[in-house]
Amino acid sequence: MEKTCNICQVIKNLEEFVTKNRVKKDGKAAECKECQKKRNKEYRDRAEVKERKKEYEKHYYENNKVLRDNYHAGWRIENKERKKEYDLEYRKENAEKIKQYQKSQI
Ligand SMILES: [Zn+2]
Repeated sequence: MEKTCNICQVIKNLEEFVTKNRVKKDGKAAECKECQKKRNKEYRDRAEVKERKKEYEKHYYENNKVLRDNYHAGWRIENKERKKEYDLEYRKENAEKIKQYQKSQI
């Protein structure tokens, strides 16, 4: 089966058209894949789109930086507490062993 592209007016094999709607007659897009690719590229290349993307990435990065910093700060504090607890527990549990060890060192 073949179909004429609405954009470049070239008759192309149906394979050259993106499937859009399976319910519709042929379910294919009006423009061929090539035209669609070109259109997408032009869209992406548009300055305002590029600018928006850059802005978005900047915001995304900054928002995440705050999150990251908070996360790490929280992690450090939590870890410090945990280490303190751990050391205490360790000393309590191993008091005998530590004593023995210290004795053996003399
Ligand atoms: Zn085309």
